[in-house]
Amino acid sequence: MSTGDTSHFDPLPERDGDAVLESMRPDTLAVRGGLTRSHFDETAEAIYATSGFVYSSAAEAEAAFAGDIDRYIYGRYGNPTVTMFEERLRLIEGAEACLATASGMAAVYAALASQLKVGDKVVASRALFGSCTVVINEILPRFGIESVLVDGGSLEQWADALDGGATVVFLETPSNPGLEIIDMKAVCDLAHAAGACVVVDNIFASPVLQSPLDFGADVIVYSATKHIDGQGRTLGGAVLGTSEFINSKVIPFTRHTGPSLSPFNAWVFVKGLETMRLRVLHSSASALMVAATLEGHGSLADVRYPGLSTHPQHDLAMSQMSAGGTVLTMTIDGGKKDSFEFLDALKLIDISNNLGDSKSLITHPATTTHRRVSPDLRAELGITDGMVRLSVGLEDPADIIDDLCQALAVLER
Ligand SMILES: *Cc1c(COP(=O)(O)O)cnc(C)c1O
Repeated sequence: MSTGDTSHFDPLPERDGDAVLESMRPDTLAVRGGLTRSHFDETAEAIYATSGFVYSSAAEAEAAFAGDIDRYIYGRYGNPTVTMFEERLRLIEGAEACLATASGMAAVYAALASQLKVGDKVVASRALFGSCTVVINEILPRFGIESVLVDGGSLEQWADALDGGATVVFLETPSNPGLEIIDMKAVCDLAHAAGACVVVDNIFASPVLQSPLDFGADVIVYSATKHIDGQGRTLGGAVLGTSEFINSKVIPFTRHTGPSLSPFNAWVFVKGLETMRLRVLHSSASALMVAATLEGHGSLADVRYPGLSTHPQHDLAMSQMSAGGTVLTMTIDGGKKDSFEFLDALKLIDISNNLGDSKSLITHPATTTHRRVSPDLRAELGITDGMVRLSVGLEDPADIIDDLCQALAVLER
């Protein structure tokens, strides 16, 4: 028995500050955006560790389920701490809406699967994070979705693949681990002419260095596990886009398939966002210093970093990003054996496949993150047996450089 009169129910708290915040700058949004205080008036954001919520009456529960009132119902649908994270990230990105997920891959999958159906076509750049390749090449085709991979740097290949239309374009720039840059404006123009929604994996650049919406992207996905946490503690992700896309596609999909973010992890990300800009700018400046110092080293066949003028797409990278990012690759002369010897000789930098951490981390992609990629495709993507990927952390850059140089010296013996 719903009278339709819900005025006696408490709705979600109004965030009066939001209208004011919209006009403020990213550093302010990073510490103030999305903050909702409880009646205890706490300073820092609270962790609402609850799976459910209670109703003051049966009629209120009915009104909540009917959508007549806006309130929390169940943790899979939403949680106040998760909302604070979504709102803070949304304001920083300048997007209309944001939905948080349990991991970066849950965000990628939700952004794709929520809008695709049998008979649709996805066109994606070939240089993708390993699990993204599995989703696009193996999982989606099982549901009758066609997938086409192109060389992301070739506008001709994008145009050919989009000929005849497509539903979704998916791309990653800079790519992991090859640091290939894709011209987002040009690809978005081609995609939109073909009727496709453009989904950009912006994980490598982070919200600090690159704003895909400015170049025409429709949807942005993040692994919050990387720079948003930034200290290697928790898994999470987010999908950002228009209110129409998030409300009519993503939320109906995630509510019922269940990739919800835990309130604790959301709280870690809320606090991570407060320092993200400081951390990413610092690591990025250090990465440039490391790349510039090691470039031309006798034991290295190549040092690749978007911020170096020797990167083949340096100009394009700098037209899309405000700095080169926190990751660089080095190619060791001598292949796998010497690469392993180099990694094992490091004393400070940890061997780990993660990235975007305060600790500098190094990995050998061919035998770890990209081992599932066929040798032919690896060769095409430049993921040789000599390539190592370094995620530069917050240590003193001189110590990072010293460690890399002493490990390279071991190879020369
Ligand atoms: C880490 C990563 C993902 C997946 O994120 P998870 O949080 O590990 O699920 C997707 N794309 C890129 C580029 C990544 O680096």
